[in-house]
Amino acid sequence: MNNIPPIDLAQQYKTIEEEISAAVLNVLASGRYIGGNIVESFEQKFAAYIGVSHAVSCNSGSDALYLALRALSIGAGDEVITTPFTFIATAEAISTVGATPVFVDIDAQTFNLDINQVSSAITGKTKAILPVHLFGQPVDMTSLMAVAQKHNLAVIEDCAQATGAAWEERKIGSISHIGCFSFFPTKNLGAFGDGGAITTNDRQIAATVRMLKEHGSRSRYYHEEIGVNSRLDALQAAILQVKLGHLETWNIQRSQVAARYQNLLTPLPGIVLPQSLPSGKSVWNQYTIRILAPENQDKTSEPNSWRDQVRTKMQQQGITSMVYYPIPLHLQPVYQNLGYQPGSFPVAEQVCQEVLSLPMFPELTQEQQEQVVYALKDALV
Ligand SMILES: *Cc1c(COP(=O)(O)O)cnc(C)c1O
Repeated sequence: MNNIPPIDLAQQYKTIEEEISAAVLNVLASGRYIGGNIVESFEQKFAAYIGVSHAVSCNSGSDALYLALRALSIGAGDEVITTPFTFIATAEAISTVGATPVFVDIDAQTFNLDINQVSSAITGKTKAILPVHLFGQPVDMTSLMAVAQKHNLAVIEDCAQATGAAWEERKIGSISHIGCFSFFPTKNLGAFGDGGAITTNDRQIAATVRMLKEHGSRSRYYHEEIGVNSRLDALQAAILQVKLGHLETWNIQRSQVAARYQNLLTPLPGIVLPQSLPSGKSVWNQYTIRILAPENQDKTSEPNSWRDQVRTKMQQQGITSMVYYPIPLHLQPVYQNLGYQPGSFPVAEQVCQEVLSLPMFPELTQEQQEQVVYALKDALV
């Protein structure tokens, strides 16, 4: 039996090696390594793909979130509502601009913000809602935008794991005020290094993000605000432009992989499979199941020991699965000052003990998936 990794980027590279080499060599020969035509043309193609009038590239998904919050003048004294079940970058951006993240529990089926609980977290200080389309699964944007409009709040979407996902036929990142994307290599559209972008239909927001990411400058050597240096370099833009041409195919392949897992894993007691909302099109950045602790589990043992045992047993068979995320953000040491306790968000806390992301990438074969499922079934007995 061969080892199966959670993701195989080198394998994907081989399928586009010639196209990438040509694009990279072009940039090397051009003498233009920061900015220039290739960055502009990638931004235009990315905006067209998402279905917005503006895309502004930057250095990372984390920067995209930071720049989006700054562009909406969110800062000290403001509150931003978000999910505790996400990568730290989401809440970190809120804290970095000086605002306070206010967490709301998640829905166990979608792993996303429970929109029914958002209203009760809104205070006089709330300025925005920052939903995350976790694992590639879109948030119910219709309901979320309705809550936001009712309370006159901005919405910034964390689309880092969901490039190409759609809600009611519209791509995520085109429905709210600002979409924030990451081109980290493991994301659905990944660069060969760091990269990110914001998307918006608001010309003013796009111009403000552009000013902030260029040292607070709209015209050279004239600085109106304290900004940052946050660029997508020309090599990454060239690589992303090539990969953008393959993204729809890869996302379709991912949904085929997800459908095969669904078949192979139904019915299997002791686990819960990921579920999509009828109006949502997931792009399956992760295929994340929940491993339910057996009834007779020793309650005095570590609470997540069963999931971790399953993971270890699969690893012994050469199958690497991942735990995204073991600790919800409200229980992280860095957020102890916010005053949350164990029990503050029971669903997020429970899910953190149960989640297991199985190998997921477009090139994963049926045979490999059968091996994954075989190892999982074996580990569950
Ligand atoms: C990857 C990720 C980010 C940050 O993106 P970087 O490009 O790594 O800075 C933010 N939010 C979520 C949900 C992510 O998965």
